[in-house]
Amino acid sequence: MLEIKELHKRYPTGDPALRGVSLSVPAGQVLGLIGPSGAGKSTLIRCINRLVEPTQGQVLLDGQDLAHAGRQGLRMARRQIGMIFQEYALVERLTVMENLLSGRLGYTRFWPSWFRRFPSKDIQLAYSLLERVGLAGMENKRADALSGGQRQRVGIARALMQRPAFLLIDEPTASLDPKTSRQIMRLILTLCAEHKLAAIINIHDVVLATEFLPRIVGLRQGMMVYDGPATQVDHKV
Ligand code: ADP
Ligand code: ADP
Repeated sequence: MLEIKELHKRYPTGDPALRGVSLSVPAGQVLGLIGPSGAGKSTLIRCINRLVEPTQGQVLLDGQDLAHAGRQGLRMARRQIGMIFQEYALVERLTVMENLLSGRLGYTRFWPSWFRRFPSKDIQLAYSLLERVGLAGMENKRADALSGGQRQRVGIARALMQRPAFLLIDEPTASLDPKTSRQIMRLILTLCAEHKLAAIINIHDVVLATEFLPRIVGLRQGMMVYDGPATQVDHKV
């Protein structure tokens, strides 16, 4: 369960980007975040894992306040937050399997020869996740040989490698065609339901959001202007 309470963010320059946003996402729920450019969507997402420092407020993940966590607490908390990105953020010249295992090292500190030292448990999880995302048998393909949809499937599997409690998903389909976008949305929703994962999806495509997501939060000028079912979202945001 993720709870955000009265979150404020003011960058050193300009107007406040978030002005007291409060919301909670229970386990298993996927919440869609929409709003015009500049509304504060990316800032909100980044405040959750502290890529951006909130000015004020709380971000509670299963009761622990990430907004005020120290270095060590933050590191532990980040392990529970899986990230999925618009441009996939794969290491292009590594294989699918290497990309999955590199997630275990926190994205930055890795060297291919380390992979041999991975516990068989991690490797087993990687194989089972590949199957789950529809990429069985693709483990030795290089990332740069994959289609956009396949890359995002790897991105999703990599996020799940750390067995997160929560997923932050930033415009996952913005680089994909409509048909692939729908497949990816369906996959994300199925996996979140299966693993009781809470998730926030920053999604600019309102049509796609209304088609797939039961709950939508609309942001405008750093404030929540809508929180409810997708069916009534049109004229509100
Ligand atoms: P969205 O993701 O909805 O497009 P953002 O969170 O990127 O919105 O931006 C919200 C507001 O904060 C905008 O006014 C934007 O100009 C401002 N902003 C975003 N990032 C920064 C930054 N690093 N420094 C200063 N202002 C920023
Ligand atoms: P163990 O920790 O003993 O491997 P789990 O019950 O945690 O057992 O996992 C069993 C299987 O469930 C894994 O091999 C994997 O396929 C799947 N699984 C567990 N947690 C997750 C997760 N967060 N995301 C995706 N798949 C998972």
